[in-house]
Amino acid sequence: MTERQAAAEIERLSAEIRRHEHAYHVLDRPETSDAEFDGLFETLVELESRYPELAGADSPTRRVGSDLTQELPEVEHTVPVLSLDKAYDMAGVERWMAKARAADPATAFVVEEKIDGTSILLHYRDGVLERAVTRGNGRTGNDVTANVRTIRTVPLRLHAPETLAVRGEIFIRRGAFEVLNAGVETPYANARNFAAGSLRRVKSRDVAAVPLEIFVYEGFMADPPPTHTALLSQLRRLGFRVNPATAVIREDAASADRSNGFAVIDTAAAAKYVAERAAARPNLAYDIDGLVLKVDRLAAREAMGSTEHHPRWAIAVKFDAPEGVSVVRSIQVQVGRTGRVTPVARIDPVPIAGSTIANVTLHNQDYVDSLELAVGDTVAVSKRGDVIPAVERVLEKDPEGQPVWRMPPECPSCRSTLTVQGAHSFCPNSGCRDQVRGRLRFFIARDQMDIAGLGPATIDLLVDRGWVRDVADLYRFDPERLLGEEGFGERSVAALAAGIEASKAKPFAIVLAALGLPELGPKVTDLLLQAGFRDIDSLYAAVDSGDPEVFTGIDGIGERTAASIMRHLRRPDPLTGSRMATWRATPRGLIAALRARGLRFAVEPAGTDGEQPFAGQTWCITGSFEAFKPRALAAEEIRMRGGTVTGAVSGATTHLLAGNGGGGKATKAEAAGVLIVDERAFLRLLGRSAG
Ligand SMILES: [Zn+2]
Repeated sequence: MTERQAAAEIERLSAEIRRHEHAYHVLDRPETSDAEFDGLFETLVELESRYPELAGADSPTRRVGSDLTQELPEVEHTVPVLSLDKAYDMAGVERWMAKARAADPATAFVVEEKIDGTSILLHYRDGVLERAVTRGNGRTGNDVTANVRTIRTVPLRLHAPETLAVRGEIFIRRGAFEVLNAGVETPYANARNFAAGSLRRVKSRDVAAVPLEIFVYEGFMADPPPTHTALLSQLRRLGFRVNPATAVIREDAASADRSNGFAVIDTAAAAKYVAERAAARPNLAYDIDGLVLKVDRLAAREAMGSTEHHPRWAIAVKFDAPEGVSVVRSIQVQVGRTGRVTPVARIDPVPIAGSTIANVTLHNQDYVDSLELAVGDTVAVSKRGDVIPAVERVLEKDPEGQPVWRMPPECPSCRSTLTVQGAHSFCPNSGCRDQVRGRLRFFIARDQMDIAGLGPATIDLLVDRGWVRDVADLYRFDPERLLGEEGFGERSVAALAAGIEASKAKPFAIVLAALGLPELGPKVTDLLLQAGFRDIDSLYAAVDSGDPEVFTGIDGIGERTAASIMRHLRRPDPLTGSRMATWRATPRGLIAALRARGLRFAVEPAGTDGEQPFAGQTWCITGSFEAFKPRALAAEEIRMRGGTVTGAVSGATTHLLAGNGGGGKATKAEAAGVLIVDERAFLRLLGRSAG
């Protein structure tokens, strides 16, 4: 085959593939079998690999994306990107319609679904997709062309060599979102953020794996037709996908009318139509957050013009009650006890669902990027039930045009250069003050060590003074140093010293969970103790065996948890061990230090005579208790006396310790003839009175 023949063959194959893609994805009318299509596609891939210089930017093979990482450079918008004014009820819509008729008495209105996706601008030159740009801050957006090329409903070449720009919405169907979002480390809050996040992936091949779609709803060209509906139908002829659920509201419409292929509704029925669309929303395959009404005649649009923020010729009808609307005043980063660095938006306080919200977590850079959020933006803030508040979307860009917020390169607390793991940024310095503060606050919390006389404010003071640099320092530092600090006298210092001393008697299960090692919370700690790991040395031995099955063999412990235990409790390498400060920063080093100070790292037998009155008994615990907070304290009492504690009532269960509100297990135990013990009886068994 000569190069010339190859070029002709590539052009012929490309045209045929484009035709099939358009029929399948845009028109939803497949003309070929999948196998036939794949055959054409593979032939083209093969030809292009032999003649790479003949493969054009608009070749259908571009749809599969690339593994190369790309920058998503900022580019300036050349067509206006305005947001829409909003109405929350039909009265608001009718006021707007009246204003539009005052400007153009003959005008019709186009009603479109407001797809809850991410907005995109597509630029075509001579019919070929040249550039795709996100909305960004309205002035500049990110060039995501390679990623957009992978979206099958975006034409890479139009049916005519037009030079134009279109605006559309990229989205993912709910079903596909639910499948792809299940089981990921940090799931997206909704399909919109998922679509926006996908569009910004650095490898276009990753984007190709996500079934993104587009509906196009605006066109910008040299000689537009006189109406919006005619323009939409022209875009459709060029190969764009226009939402078929688009209608025209017109005076004196007959029910059978169509206008440029769109349904026509009489003005008198407009309110009914809007209500019907709102009611149909849960049954749609994709999310919409309302409808958009636009003036149909483009000349009338011109005459009506725009305010500083909105075009006057369009309005969004929102279905939901307004969420909290606020302005992002600043974005600060917080360093957690694990070193994870989280951006938090400080917003003007806004009441939502009974509480006043002033701080909203933004999770990580990906989340901020998917919102394209900048300081100064007006945002919708939601609070669903007990869930932490979330920034749902940007409603209005800051007119100053601030850039999308970026994570600073350094830890705000210790100035270490941040590292990135997955979607999150971390401060790598375990001695970082904010991390230390976080670990100490966690260690002393009520559900953990619950040290009497020691609260978060005191922790902050100890860390700020540099007296305490890790958890073990709590047991080294002299509380008398606090004398003279504001709020501390002889009595409070003595109470603190006594509280710290008393905490050394806290059971192993509590101490281990209080260290805050990833995946080693109270539940997993309990499972480990049930499985017979009654001291830290037996855990070390299991970790040192290098066999995760020691842990995955325990019902309730999965591979991820096992891997995390193996990683965090592993023996530090000898080089690390030789330097005391670094050794202490490892979990084993910290545990050794705490052990040396007298904290418990083994289940202690009760009394010095080693009496085991609960030997041979299997206890299950349910409900909550006055004298045992958290419940693990009761479990420890049982273990100290030789008993076994399990998580569920089974045939082996001999006793059920029943606290307040433990309904299900008590019923089951009763049916199984298990001895049920209440808190008073339990205290008597322990030789303590219920005071
Ligand atoms: Zn730091």
